[in-house]
Order: sequence, then structure tokens, then C-alpha cells
Amino acid sequence: MKARDQFRFYPTDQQRQLLAQLFGCVRVVWNDALALCKKSEKLPSNNDLQKLVITQAKKTLERGWLSEVSNIPLQQSVADLGVAYKNFFDSLKGKRKGKKLGSPKFKKKTNQQTARFRIGGFSIKGDEVNLAKIGNVNPIWSRKLPSAPSSVTVIKDCANRYFLSFVVEVESINIDAKNQSIGIDLGIKTFAVMSNGAVFCRGILPPQTNLEKAESPDYSKLDKKVRKLQKKLARQPKDSKRRNKTQIQIAKLHNQIADARKDFLHKLSTKIVSENQTIVLEDLNVSGMVKNRKLARAISFQGWREFRTLCEAKSQKFNRVFHVISRWEPTSQVCFECGYKWGKLDLKIRSIQCFNCGAEHDRDQNAAKNINKVGIGHCHDSKRTQREGKTGSPAHLSEVSRITEASAR
Ligand SMILES: [Zn+2]
Repeated sequence: MKARDQFRFYPTDQQRQLLAQLFGCVRVVWNDALALCKKSEKLPSNNDLQKLVITQAKKTLERGWLSEVSNIPLQQSVADLGVAYKNFFDSLKGKRKGKKLGSPKFKKKTNQQTARFRIGGFSIKGDEVNLAKIGNVNPIWSRKLPSAPSSVTVIKDCANRYFLSFVVEVESINIDAKNQSIGIDLGIKTFAVMSNGAVFCRGILPPQTNLEKAESPDYSKLDKKVRKLQKKLARQPKDSKRRNKTQIQIAKLHNQIADARKDFLHKLSTKIVSENQTIVLEDLNVSGMVKNRKLARAISFQGWREFRTLCEAKSQKFNRVFHVISRWEPTSQVCFECGYKWGKLDLKIRSIQCFNCGAEHDRDQNAAKNINKVGIGHCHDSKRTQREGKTGSPAHLSEVSRITEASAR
């Protein structure tokens, strides 16, 4: 199983210059190759592309400077474009699970910059990493690499931070799970409510609730700062030094938000996956919800998609079963106890008493329990009361069409 391991490093001034040059060349090669692909009726082969945008381009006046940098990241850039196209076509044909991918895009100078070195282009000696034609860099090794890396990507993010991202092979971990299965309901106010009663939310719960809890970071203060700076940015003249400075300030704040979120999501997903044998999530239509402008900011901060990706990857690592159930399952419209369907509830309604069996439910808790039930394929006797429902009974494990199982990536 492949994984990425990322470490920060601080290049010398000279290395900064060399890297800036390399990033520029990688970007130009990618953009030239992409322009060729867009023009041709049939996608040119990797070899043909390399010949055109690297070997032959080096002989021209406009692209002669390509020979000043290592050839390996340039070839990799063309190869990566090939992979991007393959993923895009697979996604179009429905061969690739997950979010639909767009066609490869041109790289911009203002976005995050990357250059990838394969074996041969880099080597590790002791604490130092040698990059071809860049020199030795000393990353901050916050942990040991689990195995010898097959490639390393040098990244410069929008806040001018530098990282090395290694692709490594990791082995799966065998720990027995405490619990059979868990269903998770994701929300805005409470990040996650579990079918076993645990609640993971922002802020502190009242003391009498002896529920498991983890605080989701409060992003609102940082977000306020970002919005203030964005207003400032809009007033500043284009290409001015002050504008550049504001842009970097904004990028730094975005990084702080992303780091806090990543940390929270990593801890939570590790906990959930290590403790449970089967993990069931609901497929949320995040991109659809983000179109609702009022909710958009709150949702994009939550990182549901990121959380799902983490749970999925860690499930593989821990040999767990990971299920995503259809977003059309009426998990919040059905009584967990008796299966009675009360229909759609307004978002304001936080708890409900079942009209049929009298059970009292917390809205999210009930949904989480239903998600778990559907995920592990317990039908209960809910069919009886669900006849009128358009969405029908909870899915069985055997009903492949309604349960999207995690694809092995
Ligand atoms: Zn009931």
C-alpha cells in the first residue's frame, strides 16, 4: 500500500533560486505538453510528448533554458500529465470511483509549485536529501520514513513554505477492533455523531452528558481575519508589492485553518478506525450543498470529504471494512427502533419522539444509528412501515447498487 509522508524544509537562498527555476521549467513543460494534447485529435504518447516539449524544445531559442535544470522532473511532469489524462478518462467512463474529475488544467505561477524526482534524481544519506542539480536539503524529520521512498515531490505552497513529500510503501497494521461497527452522521454544528453515542463537536458539552467528545477547532476568528484581508486585497492595485504581501498573509491564514482542521480530522479518523471493525459513512453531496451560499463557508471548513478520504485510507491500513451508503437513504426520516417513517424534518428540529413506538431520539444520534444499520445490512422489520417511502427499505450488503464500497487505491 502506498502512502505519502511530508516534511518541511528550509532551502538556502541559492537553493530557492534554483528551485524557482526548476518549478518554472516543470510548469512550462506541463503547459506545453497540455497545449499539444488539447490541439491533437488523438492523445500523443508519453514518448512523443517528451521528445517534443523537452528534447526538441531545448534546441530552440525560446526554450533553451530547459537544459539548465535536471531532466528528471521535466520527464516526470510529462508522465504526470499522462496520468492526469488517464484518471480524467477513467472518471468519465465511470471506471474511477469518487468525485468526477475535470480535464487537466494549465499550471499557474501563482498556485502551489511542485517538482517530482524519481529514483535517480534524489538520494537520502543520513538526514540529508540530495536533489539533482539543487543540492542537499535538510528536512525536519518529525518521524522516520517507514520504507525507502520511490519518489519525492518538492512543494512550495502559496505561503512560500517548502516541503518534501515522499511516496513510501507502508504495511497494514493488525489491531483488534473494540467494536463491531459504527455509523457516523456528519453535521455542521456537531462535526460527527456516532451510533454508539459519542459526539464530536465544537465547544464543550454540558457536564452531565458523559459522551465521548473531541473539540473541532473554531475557525471563525481566523476566517474573520481572512475576509478582512480579502477586502483589503480588492482595493490594492494589481502587481503592487503591498498586494503581494496581502496575498501571502491570506495564504498563511488559510494554512493555519487547514493545519488545525487536518490535525483534528487525523486524530478523529485514527481513533474511529482503530476502534471499529466496520465504519459506515453517509455519502454527502458536498458540492451540491456548497452551492447553498449560506452554508458554503461553514461546510468547506468542516472538511467532510477530507475526513472520508482519511477514514478510507486508514481502514485499508488497519484492515477494516469501510462503507459509504447512498445519500438517498432516509436516515433522518426513520425511527431507528421501530422503522416508522415520519418523513422529512426541518433542520431546526433536533430531537423527535416516534409517533409509532414512543421512543425519544436525538436527531443526529438516530441518523447515525440508521447509517450503521444500513451499512452493516440489518434490515430489521422496517419494511413494514416504510411502504409509502419513495426511498424504500434500508439497503442490504448484497445490494451493491446502493452501497458504494471503498475502492482499493
Ligand atoms: Zn419508533
